[in-house]
Amino acid sequence: MYKLQNYINGKLVDPVSKSYLDNYNPANGKVYSLIPDSDEKDVELAYQAAKTAFPLWSITPKEKRSQYLLKIAALIEKNLDKLSLAESTDNGKPVKLAKTVDIPRAAANFHFYGTGILHYSANSHSMEDTAINYTLRQPVGVAGCISPWNLPLYLFTWKIAPALAAGCTVVAKPSEVTPMTAHLLSEICIEAGLPAGVLNIVHGLGGKVGNAIVSHKHIPLISFTGGTKTGEHIASIAAPMFKKLSLELGGKNPNVIFADCDYEKMLSTTMLSSFANQGQICLCGSRIYVEKSIYEKFKKDFVAKTKALVVGDPLRDDTKIGAVVSKPHQEKILSYVELAKKEGGTVLCGGHAIKLEGELSEGYYIAPTVIEGLAHTCRTNQEEIFGPVVTITPFDTEEQALEMANSTRYGLTSIVWTENLTRAHRFANNIHAGIVWINCWLLRDLRTPFGGVKDSGVGREGGFEALDFFTEPKNVCIKLK
Ligand code: NDP
Repeated sequence: MYKLQNYINGKLVDPVSKSYLDNYNPANGKVYSLIPDSDEKDVELAYQAAKTAFPLWSITPKEKRSQYLLKIAALIEKNLDKLSLAESTDNGKPVKLAKTVDIPRAAANFHFYGTGILHYSANSHSMEDTAINYTLRQPVGVAGCISPWNLPLYLFTWKIAPALAAGCTVVAKPSEVTPMTAHLLSEICIEAGLPAGVLNIVHGLGGKVGNAIVSHKHIPLISFTGGTKTGEHIASIAAPMFKKLSLELGGKNPNVIFADCDYEKMLSTTMLSSFANQGQICLCGSRIYVEKSIYEKFKKDFVAKTKALVVGDPLRDDTKIGAVVSKPHQEKILSYVELAKKEGGTVLCGGHAIKLEGELSEGYYIAPTVIEGLAHTCRTNQEEIFGPVVTITPFDTEEQALEMANSTRYGLTSIVWTENLTRAHRFANNIHAGIVWINCWLLRDLRTPFGGVKDSGVGREGGFEALDFFTEPKNVCIKLK
């Protein structure tokens, strides 16, 4: 069976323990490779390599750092098919989605920060004829980067690329559930000639490898994307150590649809914002609020379209819904459907596992699910399900829609559909979310800050904010007389 390896000090190496974990293909429920079951010993080796590489990497001219990043971007593009297949096999997502969204975006991350660093500048402040202040932005040191399984290479590189561009060296951990693209990235970095120790990738469990990174005395910065509960745990370790911390956490995003929207555009985009990647995108709109006058029409059309979605082999081009990421995750999603029923909800479609034929009969498939009749305050509407399950609820007034939209502990993104310009701006101003999409979804300009409010996280990634995060400002004040 194929064994993945850690990438430490420029080389692919076995874990110190020589122990491995099974890596499952969610499409058929079978183990298809083994991943290092690393521990704090491997993290220490990775840290030592990153520490040794830091002095030279941090003063490597940004033009040279940029060249390495652009080379990696080009190699990701060159390996599009291989990486897309790996991502689909690890995650269960349709390979077409990996090929058109995930992998191109991973290349774009390296491209964006490979060029962005060339235009990154710091401030100076003049105190008239008394003094001049200028701010140096210096790389923080060895950065710890930890990412989740839902958009494996896309989110992994969203951290690594700005860290490397800023002059940090990195110890990174991909999700143990989806490690293959990170492994292939190691091979790409070797091919790109990235100097040894600049990027180190340690595979393994969150409780062991992730914990060892977060609690490492000499890793001063943690960039984490994952669940809110894990974020809480990480903050409890990192905060007393005064680490710089960026936490991108869960979401329970509202999709608010007013009667004056462009209906067809709204309907087709709402299909995507509800079910893309089996609903396993932190940005999906899982609570749909619809103005009462169009509620019945929306319900009929949305349910019909949802029933028509093809659930099937992720490798087929006509598949819209692949497998969810793991057996425990499938069980968790289905348990929320049961909860919704207990809470008084009506399942309009889906709500059950799907057993495919032949080779894929043990895969983790769920019929896309629409539920109505739930109070906005119930657990189904308050907790993150992270699967192909959405609720629909009518509203009478804009105030009521806003109240329901803002009623959860989360505040990652929100979607608003209206052709009324004033209302669109007013709603965007009043909603508690880090991102508001008006008449669109998942449209990203990488220059803009990305992140959530409330329990969806702290800190912002994206744009120059990420370069700010991976550097430390130092003010120098020169007296002029
Ligand atoms: P988890 O929080 O379970 O895991 C995220 C990462 O943290 C994984 O690499 C995991 O390793 C690791 N980890 C787990 N426990 C620890 C620990 N004690 N110390 C350090 N690291 C640890 O999230 P999921 O992987 O389940 O991802 C889904 C979640 O991520 C959802 O809540 C989703 O909303 C959120 N998310 C947020 C995004 C955002 O931008 N705000 C974007 C994408 C997802 P392992 O896999 O081995 O457990």
